[in-house]
Amino acid sequence: MKRATRLARGARIVGEPFGATSAPIYQTATYAQESALEFGAYDYTRSGNPTREALERELAELEGAAHALVYGSGVAALAAAVRATAAGGEVLAGDDLYGGSYRLLASVLAEQGVRMRTVDGADLEAVAAALGPDTRLVLVETPTNPLLRVCDLDGLARLAHGAGARLAVDASLLTPYLQRPLELGADLVVHSATKALGGHADLTAGVVATNDAALAARLAFARNAEGTALSPFESWLLARGLKTLAVRLERQEANARRVAEFLVGRTEIRALRWPGLASHPGHALQRAQANGFGPVIAFETGDLERSRLLVEGLELFPIAVSFGGAGSSASLPCRMSHAAIPEPVRRARRLPEDLVRLSIGVEDADDLIADLERALDSVAELPPSSDSDSAAAAVTGAGPAG
Ligand SMILES: *Cc1c(COP(=O)(O)O)cnc(C)c1O
Repeated sequence: MKRATRLARGARIVGEPFGATSAPIYQTATYAQESALEFGAYDYTRSGNPTREALERELAELEGAAHALVYGSGVAALAAAVRATAAGGEVLAGDDLYGGSYRLLASVLAEQGVRMRTVDGADLEAVAAALGPDTRLVLVETPTNPLLRVCDLDGLARLAHGAGARLAVDASLLTPYLQRPLELGADLVVHSATKALGGHADLTAGVVATNDAALAARLAFARNAEGTALSPFESWLLARGLKTLAVRLERQEANARRVAEFLVGRTEIRALRWPGLASHPGHALQRAQANGFGPVIAFETGDLERSRLLVEGLELFPIAVSFGGAGSSASLPCRMSHAAIPEPVRRARRLPEDLVRLSIGVEDADDLIADLERALDSVAELPPSSDSDSAAAAVTGAGPAG
């Protein structure tokens, strides 16, 4: 069965008695036991729930994984994955990560004894040089968020394994419909299912998938002990969203291509990034290791104020963090999703303050392009501002010293 067919059939609850074609929500905390000394299949929803397990089987199958565990958010999944694999050692993390992932690693996990170093995960030589004796885990996103650099997963897996470390891939941007990192050598996949997997911007959820049974058992033990599993209702909502994953992503990708091709022709746009463009440095690699390019496009305008006015001038793109939903959205990552990364670190990583990130949804591409065209025309008249730093200061209200 092809994946789109499998997805449309949806998650199934084993033994469900009525032939429900939508896996029902077992909205219960407890399950009555046969007797005080006999446990049934379930006793308490923090530990186990049929709706959640149906979702996990569905996600594992989609990922080509033996095990999938769902959590209350993407960062909860990431924290669990990193603690289970790198406690007492070091994480070598890609230097272009979601801002909340950076914050988690740099603060909470660092305080708990997981040291972080960062490296450009798209540069295999740099990764080879950076791996150290204490590196337990290499963690990357690909394409990275928000700079959309493509990381060579097969190459990273070889390097990590050669150094006795595991490779974890945060694959929130592509989802297993477009890329299956475990088949490329990764040991763990992490998702923010809040993004494209859920696809409707109506839930927060996270996933860890792996083929390592011992690791999955440790994750399950910790998740029950800490109480971080996804609730029955949100498990059901995520399973519902997954039914349309294939059509959503195919439409989003077709729209992203139309939008990217439109933006190529606009002189206001600089450094347009979408891996589906043949001019993107990671294009060939992305073709080789994925089935598509994803719904996220990023570009610069050369000026923070121009970028701000541009996104504020859009009507069909609400200014919103997150990406991957059925509805398009626009953001300024340095002021929004990546604001948790301190300004000097953003600067050192050449994360442009004027970067605009678009998440392309399932709308009619003609409407999206017309909206972008109108908003771009309205900022085209602005005088080129020379000094992005003073514009940044004007927007944040912070003085030059920050
Ligand atoms: C949003 C995001 C996360 C965090 O997920 P939440 O569901 O918001 O906790 C992690 N990684 C990436 C790439 C993300 O975009």
